Amino acid sequence: MAQKRKGETMGRQVDRLVRELDLETASDADVSDLAARMVAMGQGAVENLARGVFRPGPARREKVAALLACLRGEQATWALGMLHGTVAARSLGPMERAWLFTLARRLEDAAAGQAGQAPANDVDEEFDDDPLLADETQLLLWRDELASLTQGEQEAALEPILHSGDERLLPLLEMALSLRHPRVDFLVAGSLGRFHTPATLPLVRELLQRPDPAVRRHARAALLALQRAGVSAHDLFVAAAEDDEPVTKGFATLPDGAGHMAILVSRGTAPGRVRYAVVIIDPIEAGILRAWGESGLDEDELEDRLSDFADEAGQELLPIESNTAQAIVAAAEDFARARKHDLPADYVAWRRCIGRPERQIALPVTFGPKCAECGVPISAGDIKRGGLLAGHVALCALCAAQPRSCAVCGRSLHSLFDEFLVRRAPDGSRVQFLCLPCSRKQPGKAKG
Ligand SMILES: [Zn+2]
Ligand SMILES: [Zn+2]
Repeated sequence: MAQKRKGETMGRQVDRLVRELDLETASDADVSDLAARMVAMGQGAVENLARGVFRPGPARREKVAALLACLRGEQATWALGMLHGTVAARSLGPMERAWLFTLARRLEDAAAGQAGQAPANDVDEEFDDDPLLADETQLLLWRDELASLTQGEQEAALEPILHSGDERLLPLLEMALSLRHPRVDFLVAGSLGRFHTPATLPLVRELLQRPDPAVRRHARAALLALQRAGVSAHDLFVAAAEDDEPVTKGFATLPDGAGHMAILVSRGTAPGRVRYAVVIIDPIEAGILRAWGESGLDEDELEDRLSDFADEAGQELLPIESNTAQAIVAAAEDFARARKHDLPADYVAWRRCIGRPERQIALPVTFGPKCAECGVPISAGDIKRGGLLAGHVALCALCAAQPRSCAVCGRSLHSLFDEFLVRRAPDGSRVQFLCLPCSRKQPGKAKG
C-alpha cells in the first residue's frame, strides 16, 4: 500500500498512508512495516509525518504516535526536530501540549537509546516553562477537554502519559482523577507504579479510597511497586510538594450563619504570574463546598478581583496570616476525607495555589462541631431549624430553642426575635447568653 500514486507529492503520500492505516485492524508488525517504509522514503517523509500530528482526521494523532514510536536513533531525531518546531510555531491547546510532551519524551528515549547521545533538539526544554503543568487554569482546561472525550479517546489521551512514568506529568493525572470516572481511575491506578517518586503517593492515597474494589486493588499494587522502587510509603499521607511561587496574601471572610467561610490565598508578584484561589469551607458537613481561582494576573488585577469579590459576596475579605488560611483549608480537606465527602473537582486544581501550612496552629474554626449543651453533632439541618454556630460555640436546634435569659441582666431572650451573644461561660463548662446591650459591654460576637 506504500506505492506512490501518479502525480502524488511525498507529503500527500505520507498523508494518505496515515489515513489508510486502521489501528483497529493493523497488527504491531503492520504499523512498524509502514513506519519502515516511510523511513525508506527519507528524512522528508518522517518530518512530514511528525509535522502532521495535529492535522484533522479520525484517530490521526494516535496513528502518527504509533508510527513515530517505531522510530529509532537518527530517525527519531528527525521527528523530534519537527515536533520542536510545532511547539514553537503553534498555539497549542492543553490536550495537544500534553500529547506532544509525551510523544517527544518517547522519541528522545528512542533517539538516545540508539545513538547513545542526547538529541540535538531538546523538546523537553520547551516544556520546562510550559504553563500546562504549573497553571491551574490550563490544567482545568485540559481536564475539561478530557471529560468531553469518548471513553476510547480518553484512554488514547491518557495512555502516553501513563506510559511515560514522567513525574512532571503527575499534575495531569491528578486532574484526571478529579473527574471521579471509574474507568479513568482504573487506568491510572494500574499505571501509577511506574512513577517512582513520593509525589505519586497523594494520588495513590486518593485511589485507595475509591469505592470500586478493582481500583483499590490496582492502587495497592501501585503502592507495592513504589515501595519496591524505594519510595517510602511513610510519606503516603503527606500532601503534594509546595508550589514554587511565594504566597503573597491570605484573606478570609467572617463565617456566615451556617459557618461557611471564604478563604483566599494569592501567589506571585511578577506581571502576568499572579494567581489566587478561593476555597469556600463548610465546617459542619462537606468540609469544602467549592473552589475557584484565576491565574495569569497582574497585581493590579488581583486588587480588582479582591474588591469585586467583596462587592459581589457582600462580605469583607479580612487579611489573615497565609499560614492560618492554609491551615483552615487543610483542616477542611482532612474533615471532608474523614467524613468520606468527595472533594470538589476544581478544588483539586486550586489547592496547589493554596498550599499547605508550615506550622500547626490553633484553628479559629471547629470542624464537625458538637452541641455545647447536649453534645450531639451539629448538622446543616440543625442550623436551618434555628441551631447556632458562633465561633467555637455551637448549639443544636433543640437546645437553641430552649428559653434563655441574659447572663448579666437576667432579661429573657427569644432565639428568633432577639439579638444576643452566645459564648462559653468563663469557666468553660456551659454556654451563656447575653442580651445585645449587655454584650456591647463585653468582648465577643453578637448573633447577627
Ligand atoms: Zn443540643
Ligand atoms: Zn442583658
